[in-house]
Formats: sequence, structure tokens, C-alpha cells
Amino acid sequence: MSSPAGAPVTLLVHNAGPLVTVAGSHGSPAGGARQGAVGIVPDGAVAAAGERIVAVGTSAEVLRSVEVAPDAEVIDARGALVLPGFVDPHTHLVYAGERQHEFPRRLRGESYLDILAAGGGILATVEATRRADEATLAELTRSRLDVALAHGTTTMEIKSGYGLDTTSELKQLRAVRRAASGHAIDVVPTFMGAHAVPATAGRDADAYVELVIEEMIPAVAAERLARFCDVFCEHGVFSVEQSRRVLQAGVAAGLRPKLHADELAGGGGAELAAELRAVSADHLVHASEAGIAAMAAEGVLAVLLPGTTFALMGRDYAPARRMVEAGLPVALATDANPGSSPTESMQIILNLACLQLRLSPAEAVVAATLNAAHAVGMADTVGSLEVGKRADLVIYDAPDLDYLAYHYGTNLARRVVAGGRTAWTRTGAA
Ligand SMILES: [Zn+2]
Repeated sequence: MSSPAGAPVTLLVHNAGPLVTVAGSHGSPAGGARQGAVGIVPDGAVAAAGERIVAVGTSAEVLRSVEVAPDAEVIDARGALVLPGFVDPHTHLVYAGERQHEFPRRLRGESYLDILAAGGGILATVEATRRADEATLAELTRSRLDVALAHGTTTMEIKSGYGLDTTSELKQLRAVRRAASGHAIDVVPTFMGAHAVPATAGRDADAYVELVIEEMIPAVAAERLARFCDVFCEHGVFSVEQSRRVLQAGVAAGLRPKLHADELAGGGGAELAAELRAVSADHLVHASEAGIAAMAAEGVLAVLLPGTTFALMGRDYAPARRMVEAGLPVALATDANPGSSPTESMQIILNLACLQLRLSPAEAVVAATLNAAHAVGMADTVGSLEVGKRADLVIYDAPDLDYLAYHYGTNLARRVVAGGRTAWTRTGAA
């Protein structure tokens, strides 16, 4: 139990069945044996003054130690599971144009390359995103943020990368800023101009990389539109050398590096992430043993995206168990995007992480909260329920963690608290 004496609390959540705090990491991501260290308080409570948590412990301890303001929000969890809000550290949420019409074609066996050649795939999303104005993109993004919030996400990273020219990339990031303004979800923006080589660049990746480095990164930095710079390091997209140049230019402009690495084939992406001491390398389906070891040694997080493998009907999932055994901290994300992972729900990702990555429910929860917070540089303020952090938590209609990870396809969130206030509740049937 920890709490300072102080102002009356404005939020009290008590009578949590298990309260899962994910506390006690002492500021570092949880890898190896600590990957599953969830920290369970039976009959738990959390109190907040304004946005910040001021007490966490058993209900009896917290009720004894705090003074509740007369107008405080007092929530009886009635024995239900309470978790920190999910942190979704890898999404492509800002886009126009859905791609469900490609789904029956993919199910009939058409390849991604066939669909791309017919003007579909990512190029279709780029076309639609370029045509949409900033206000429209912001509105679309905001409605997707609402869905994510209702499924328990309270912090989310969003990447650009469907503009692929300077004007459109800036428009995407401005739309992210506009969508995030006043929203309960705390949004972390990432610049990803190097997501694909646009058709308009004549498939000249080197020339496009020059544009990203010389024009886009300085413009993004000047407007302070992003905290991270990401690149799709993959054979046939951007080479290790091109990726290195983009990420180094980003670092020079104050953007911390992240990579899409080793998704479709192993190609040295994990090794590059270690060399650059990137914040994270993401996907990693085909990461080498040496790459995994190098990432662990250099403190680079693995962000795994099982929803993408699932939606693409892939056979191979990222080697999560080998990563945990190597002491590499694993985080989870939706990769929400219209082509290869059309979901905003971290709950389904939790389920896939258990069924397909073979993480335990406890390991998956740490991956989706504390480690995910580290993956977006936000672990000081979110990702666990500890005194001083933002009061972001979710009450689920579930008796324990195992149930949350095992019962899939329905939204189990009952109430989402963000920044010390209820931001979403499920209204019961009349
Ligand atoms: Zn991605």
C-alpha cells in the first residue's frame, strides 16, 4: 500500500476483484521472468486526485488513508477485474478509405501483389488519404479512437505513412494532433514517411529516401508533429542502409527511432534496431537469434503484432517465447490499419498473444500495458497503477486475468477511466 497524505481524492475505485497493478518495475521494461510480473491485489482500490494516482492498495488500506472529496467519483467495482488502461504502441489509425472489398479476393487466394498491381493494397489507402482533407482525416481518426477507448485503450501511438509526399504526411500528422485534442486517449504521434515507396516516385527508393531526409523530417520537426521516426525496413521496401539513413536523420532532428523489422523475411532489421539503440523494433516474425540477442543487450523492446499475422492468414507468428527466454521485453500492439490488421481492440490482441504467441495471460498483460508504455516513451506516466502515474484504468466484466485473455470476440470492458475520470461506460440494456 502506498499513498501520500494530501488533498482529498476526486476518484476512488474500490472493491476490485483482482486489482492488477503491473507495478514494481522500477522504471525498466519487464523481460524474462519479470515479463509475467503483474502484481495482483485482491480486493484492491485506487484513489486519484485530479489526473494522478495518490493511493493504491487493498480497499481497506486505501479507504483508511485518503479523504474523499464530497463531489468525488466513487466507483464500486463489485468484485470485477481492474487493469491499467491498455497502451497500444503501434497503429496506423490516420487514413481514409477502408479495404474490406479486398477481403473476399484475398480469401479466394489472390495474392497481395496481384491486388497491389490492380491498384489496391497500400496504394489505394494512399490515394484515399491524399484526397481527404485534414478535418475529414481528423474526424475519421477520432471515431476510431472512440472505438479503441471503449475496448480499454487509454494511450495510443499513431503513425503517418499513407501520405508519402511532404504535404500529405504533414496533413496526416496535423490530423492526428487535431483528433487527439481533447480526446480521453493520450496520443503519441510518429512520422513514418518511409512506409512505402510511392508510385509517383517511379519506384526509385533512393530518391524517395532523399525526399524523406531532406524535406519531410525537417518539416515534421519544425512543427513538432511527431516524437518518433519509423521506417519499414524490409527486403523490397527500404534496405537496412536506407533505413539507417532515415532513422539517423530522424535522431538528428530529435525524433527517436523505431522500426518495422523482419516482418515478411529476415533481413537484419533487428540487428539494425540494436545498432541504433532504437526504442523498439516491431513485427519481428523472422528476426534472427543474433538479432534477438542484440536487441536484448541494447535495451530495444520487441513490439509484436499477432493481429497482422492472423488477418493475413500467415502461418508464422513472431517467436515470442524465444524472446522471453532471451530476456527481451515483449510489448503488444494492434497495428490497426485498413489492410493487414483492421481492429482497434487490444482485447483481441491479448487473446491472440496467448493462443498464437504462447504468452501466458499475465505475460500478455504486462506486454500490453507497462512494456507498451516503454515502447512509446511514456512509462513514467502510464502503463501501471502506481502513485504518481495517470489514473488510467479499466473495469472488466471478468473475474480474473485468465478470463479476459481467454474469452474472445466480445468487449468485456465495463468502464474506462482516463486521467482520473470516467471516459466511457457500457450502458446497460433498458
Ligand atoms: Zn505497422
